[in-house]
Amino acid sequence: MQFIDLKAQQERIREGLKKSYEDILSHGRYIMGPEISKLESELGSYIGSKHTLSCSSGTDALSLALMALGVGVRDAVFTTAFSFFASAETIALLGATPVFTDIDEKTYNIDSERLRERIEKTIEEGKLTPKAIVTVSLFGLAADYDEIKKIADEFDLKIIDDSAQSFGGIYKDRKACTLGDIGCTSFFPAKPLGCYGDGGAVFTEDEELFEIMKSLRVHGKGSDKYDNVRIGLNARMDTVQAGVLLEKLKIFDDELSKKQEVAKRYGDHLSKYVEVPVVANGYKSAWAQYTIKLKGLEREELLAHLKKRGIPTAVYYVTPMPLLKAFEYLQPTAKDYPVAVNASKKVMSLPMHAYLTDDDFERIFGAFDDFYKGNNG
Ligand SMILES: *Cc1c(COP(=O)(O)O)cnc(C)c1O
Repeated sequence: MQFIDLKAQQERIREGLKKSYEDILSHGRYIMGPEISKLESELGSYIGSKHTLSCSSGTDALSLALMALGVGVRDAVFTTAFSFFASAETIALLGATPVFTDIDEKTYNIDSERLRERIEKTIEEGKLTPKAIVTVSLFGLAADYDEIKKIADEFDLKIIDDSAQSFGGIYKDRKACTLGDIGCTSFFPAKPLGCYGDGGAVFTEDEELFEIMKSLRVHGKGSDKYDNVRIGLNARMDTVQAGVLLEKLKIFDDELSKKQEVAKRYGDHLSKYVEVPVVANGYKSAWAQYTIKLKGLEREELLAHLKKRGIPTAVYYVTPMPLLKAFEYLQPTAKDYPVAVNASKKVMSLPMHAYLTDDDFERIFGAFDDFYKGNNG
């Protein structure tokens, strides 16, 4: 049993992948080959975004977005306390200060009430200029964008929608990646839509931001690559990765609907033992992770028990972002993030992909039944 079964998926699209590799070997345009613009146009129509730009990773997508918004030294960028490091790392890398906000205990996404408090406190302190909010749609589920948008408008902040984990997710008839001024996603192999290396994309309705990001992606180019008009990055996606993604897009919706069934089966069986994910009306999760929250502190024991039964698991995240060593310089205190700290002690993620079999479910549910009925053998 795999935590995310990239092998079963590969078998399904193997012929298409071979053809795509063959095409690329023939045309030899490894950088910005024709697959890149084809992918950008297909991603754009899938997401429903006016402008789409592929790039080298989800992390670089965030950097492109933050740089396009002019984020820099003495700016405050508000983000969640509970995400992968890159959501805040990219803010700090530009010399700005990530201001962390505690999360909602049901969705694990940024708590909008706490967000407002953080912004007000930052303004009151007067040391940093509030500039933007990086919302993260964690585990596949969109953040409560309408509430966040109200706050952003009130304080004149831009929103970056970090949908690295939620490509394919839906929020009130809109796709994840379209929920902010700029949407960012990742095509790291294990993400909902993954390539066979690093990859990412940015999405926006704003022509000007799009043009700036396009320039930033290639060393801040002007009319050509050797006419550099701003400090940028080398953040292009490889042609080969675009070829892989074009094949994977063909089966993406089918996989996504199978994952909805997986989530339902998990929920039906496991809700008597643990807190299962809640997907409110109007939302559709992309199920980057199926994350449960235990009622007590039995996680270590349960992880070991599942491991013994051959069931792979993972813990996202053991440490809330502000409490990571890299952010020590911000002098964070755990008491500012009680919900994230509690989640970090009790959450764990189970295998989630479109290729789980009846046998897999039987093994997983049998292991949970035995564990919670005290039969830990
Ligand atoms: C994976 C991830 C990223 C970074 O994406 P990479 O492609 O690995 O650089 C950023 N934000 C979140 C929430 C992620 O899960």
